[in-house]
Amino acid sequence: MIVAIDGPAGAGKSTVARLLAERLGFRYLDTGAMYRAVTLLALDRGVPLDDEPALAELAREHPVEFANGRVGIAGRDVTAAIRAPEIDRVVSQVARHPGVRRVMRARQRQLGGQGDAVVEGRDIGTVVLPEAEVKVYLVADPDVRARRRTADRPGLGPDALATDLRLRDERDAVNMERADDAEQIDTTELTVEQVVARIEALVRERQPGVTRR
Ligand code: C5P
Repeated sequence: MIVAIDGPAGAGKSTVARLLAERLGFRYLDTGAMYRAVTLLALDRGVPLDDEPALAELAREHPVEFANGRVGIAGRDVTAAIRAPEIDRVVSQVARHPGVRRVMRARQRQLGGQGDAVVEGRDIGTVVLPEAEVKVYLVADPDVRARRRTADRPGLGPDALATDLRLRDERDAVNMERADDAEQIDTTELTVEQVVARIEALVRERQPGVTRR
């Protein structure tokens, strides 16, 4: 079974998806980490972020690797580096190129499409894995999203974070759409536990045999 979790930055996708995967014993795939890793590699190698063919080639040549909760690209562990505010600010510029998305989506289908998985991103339920049995679209109030981000980005103030999130939403809007058959959950007033419990209930409705770990 595939559980697709889409939505904007700061809506709680990663925390919820990771915990849900652990509870269900499913694999967890963070597709945002893939766009982040290619962006970091492009910056390191001086590839201009508007050079679509060069970026697509870079993505093709260096598939993002996931192992033991770590993210790697081109032989380097980039787990921490891809969460830097500099990456937050430019990742959408890389992700907007259709040539880059084609490469990434093919790899996402390959990684996410075999067996049980929780896959999080922006376009999972619509484009990457539209056959997903459970689709969830998480949203949250912009102020709450900025506040949540403060915890993972200690160097930045809430105003700078709110601006970064707003700009990223605007840039990501083209590739971020709720699937018609996705259940929208507003996480503004919910705890992580409540959101996970709601999605677990959807999973169980679809597949009553899934047991909790
Ligand atoms: O989810 P996260 O904030 O890590 O995603 C980083 C960026 O990667 C997003 O802002 C977006 O530009 C891009 N992305 C995407 N499609 C996905 C996942 C992420 O375009 N499925």
